[in-house]
Amino acid sequence: MASYKQPCIHCGTFIEADARLCVGCGSMSPFGYLCPSCLRTIRKGQMACDGCARPLYVPCPSCGKSTFAQERCEHCGLGLMIRCENSRCGVLQFFQNTKCTACGKKLKRTMGGR
Ligand SMILES: [Zn+2]
Ligand SMILES: [Zn+2]
Ligand SMILES: [Zn+2]
Ligand SMILES: [Zn+2]
Repeated sequence: MASYKQPCIHCGTFIEADARLCVGCGSMSPFGYLCPSCLRTIRKGQMACDGCARPLYVPCPSCGKSTFAQERCEHCGLGLMIRCENSRCGVLQFFQNTKCTACGKKLKRTMGGR
């Protein structure tokens, strides 16, 4: 199958259409937004996920404003993802997730660094 390239919605870098990760900005959802809990495709402006009904607008832990459940706060730019501590997994997870969506390991909430 011929591979073709598509632009990342976050940074505009052209990457393979089946890529899981943008090489430009490191985004894990380069062609659309994914529900942080069930990984279903979501659209900006949606208030809750169609799949698991999780709210898709959450208060930012830094500025307190409501932001879409994406990789960064829309207002202050704070990263909203934490890395799974499982060294063989390491997948980025939304900060509100209690379990890693990839390996199932419990996540500690360690927002804001130390
Ligand atoms: Zn990108
Ligand atoms: Zn969902
Ligand atoms: Zn913020
Ligand atoms: Zn994991």
